[in-house]
Amino acid sequence: MSTIFTKIINREINASIVFEDDEVLAFNDVNPQAPVHVLIIPKKEIATLNDLTEADAQVVGKLHLVAAQIAREKGIAEQGYRVVMNCNEQGGQSVYHIHLHLMGGRQMSWPAG
Ligand code: IMP
Repeated sequence: MSTIFTKIINREINASIVFEDDEVLAFNDVNPQAPVHVLIIPKKEIATLNDLTEADAQVVGKLHLVAAQIAREKGIAEQGYRVVMNCNEQGGQSVYHIHLHLMGGRQMSWPAG
């Protein structure tokens, strides 16, 4: 089932886009939890981490490469940052189209809540 992220991909709703290619889109989180908070998504609709197949391995790897590239561009690569993907209810997932959170620009705490 499509989510709001498909509407962002299709430009049906606005987002602050920071990266795009044929497979991947990245945009600023509308409710940022850190000075840098970007969501990196595959354009393919994949609901959760549990739904990945071998065929998705390349694009999931690419999400991380794009995260590192954006971190460099935003000037947070050296200080450090966090990437996280939430899965299902207890994992804290609220949008069922997989997305990698890139967060940085402040000290992260551990364990995550
Ligand atoms: P999740 O809780 O890991 O699924 O993360 C979903 C994220 O999507 C949250 O951090 C929301 O703030 C973010 N979000 C929801 N709707 C939008 C939107 O329309 N634009 C940008 N970010 C959004």
